[in-house]
Amino acid sequence: MAPSEKYLRTCNKGHNYYKSSDCPTCPTCEQERKPSQGFLSLLSAPARRALENNGITSLQQLSKYSEKEILQFHGMGPASLPKLRSALQESGLSFRR
Ligand SMILES: [Zn+2]
Repeated sequence: MAPSEKYLRTCNKGHNYYKSSDCPTCPTCEQERKPSQGFLSLLSAPARRALENNGITSLQQLSKYSEKEILQFHGMGPASLPKLRSALQESGLSFRR
């Protein structure tokens, strides 16, 4: 068996991908983990809509608001704040003070 041969792999989320090495990283999962694109998916549906209704679809836009302002959005609950805070932190951002 040639060492460069590619194997069809399936990750634990069911994505199929080919890898020639024994690196177990799934490219689809790797993309989904990008924090600046995925932070809305951490939230409950009402909280996500609350942000989207206010035009917030990126962490950069989120960082222009304070925690107080975010909590005033209809549908946003205090349980979502820690998730938003850590998502901001992972990108080197924070809520406006
Ligand atoms: Zn995957």
